[in-house]
Amino acid sequence: MSAREQVKRRGSTDFGSLRLSPSLIQVVAELGYEKMTPIQAQSIPLLLEGKDLVGQSKTGSGKTVAFSLPILNSLRVDKRDIQALILCPTRELCTQVAREIRKLGRRLPGLQVLILSGGQPMHPQLEALRKGVHLVVGTPGRVRDHLQRGSLELGAVRSVVLDEADRMLDMGFQEDMEAILKKVPEKRQMLFFSATYPRSIDSMSRAYQHAPVRVTIEDEDGKLSIRQVSYESTPEEKPEALLWLLNQHKPESAIVFCNLKATVTELAYALAREGVSCAALHGDLEQSERDRVMAKFRNHSTRVLIATDVAARGIDLENLDVVFNYDLPAKPDIYVHRIGRTGRAGKSGVAVSLAGVREKSKLQAIEKFTGTPIATQTLGRSGERAKKEGDAVAGAKMATLYISGGRKDKMRPGDILGALTGEAGGLEASKVGKIEIHDRFSYVAVSKEIAHLALQRLRDGRIKGRKFRVEPVR
Ligand code: ADP
Ligand code: MG
Repeated sequence: MSAREQVKRRGSTDFGSLRLSPSLIQVVAELGYEKMTPIQAQSIPLLLEGKDLVGQSKTGSGKTVAFSLPILNSLRVDKRDIQALILCPTRELCTQVAREIRKLGRRLPGLQVLILSGGQPMHPQLEALRKGVHLVVGTPGRVRDHLQRGSLELGAVRSVVLDEADRMLDMGFQEDMEAILKKVPEKRQMLFFSATYPRSIDSMSRAYQHAPVRVTIEDEDGKLSIRQVSYESTPEEKPEALLWLLNQHKPESAIVFCNLKATVTELAYALAREGVSCAALHGDLEQSERDRVMAKFRNHSTRVLIATDVAARGIDLENLDVVFNYDLPAKPDIYVHRIGRTGRAGKSGVAVSLAGVREKSKLQAIEKFTGTPIATQTLGRSGERAKKEGDAVAGAKMATLYISGGRKDKMRPGDILGALTGEAGGLEASKVGKIEIHDRFSYVAVSKEIAHLALQRLRDGRIKGRKFRVEPVR
């Protein structure tokens, strides 16, 4: 770590103080980003100086903007070469990052951002590469595939980012990453971003970065701003205990982590039978099914997501009301990663765990790792718990509609919003929620009470002057 300086400086948090092009400053203002987050304030100035960097801060702290703005600032749109390569662990995360970059780059006319992620057809990727793009966001496996086929040319790359480097290492991408890093020019900027800092990042940093600066952001007091509770319960008690806890907390959005796929499936079934608005997310789902589940959860059509760590990895979610650990994870850092999905954006978070008597040592290891005590509580007596308070987590606020047109049909969020709220639609904009445009279809969330009406209006009317198939998403 000799070549590294630990940076602890306190500069301005005003985006306007950065040596960024005026158009980028303007976009940042348009997006409503008022102040830089700590990781942004501390890393962007260094990145603009061209330094290599290892940035570490918790999930949701704005790392994407931190690396994207400097990349966009030095990008030459008139040169159709790949100038930056961003590696992310999952397809979802690639999509998130690409979306954020396209947003930030909307005043750079002609900017081409390409996603190269696995599990997607090869042909469109090859086609896009042939035409030329400025920036690639991809998963290590697929990017390496392209390098081997000779379809990806990295000779003009000036910036390389490993986003969620710790997760990529966890997922076994080290070899792929190193194969890729060996193919980028010697003279380039290399950034690693990560929520935790495992030893293997240190060794990769030594091997591939030049005099890297390390920026580490801790919470105010170095501790987590999340209220953590654990309930002692036997495996048999858990389903009922969870139901009771859901009723206690009445979360609008919550995630329940289980260690096994089988538990996810069983639990989702059991909760659904009790009327809980929930969905299962695990590795066996088809990609389209995952997309549907995630879209519904993000747009508040589903309140409780039940997931394995692998399935939930890398997916970006807004602040959740509660994170439940139905099972405690094997390792403390996984626990920290899980509960980092609550208590974000200055809101207070709650993490609730169900732990058996034999899991005391796991709890202790977690407490030691985080330096924060976890309050242990006992569940109410079984009889009291059985007394349910109606179905507090039954109804979601929103419902999701499917529209058979997407990006390939030049569909934009405004087109859908317009069709719903315009003269033909006549609905209030406040009743329309998240709009997600995919390649060949779109999802729009609408308030449940007007869902039927919205469906009818979209079916009767036109979007962009065309007829599309519109269906409710179950
Ligand atoms: P991380 O990669 O650290 O987990 P993200 O980059 O995904 O976090 O950012 C989390 C959210 O914060 C995103 O929705 C992003 O648009 C938002 N965000 C980023 N920077 C700012 C900012 N300066 N002000 C307000 N919101 C921001
Ligand atoms: Mg991120």
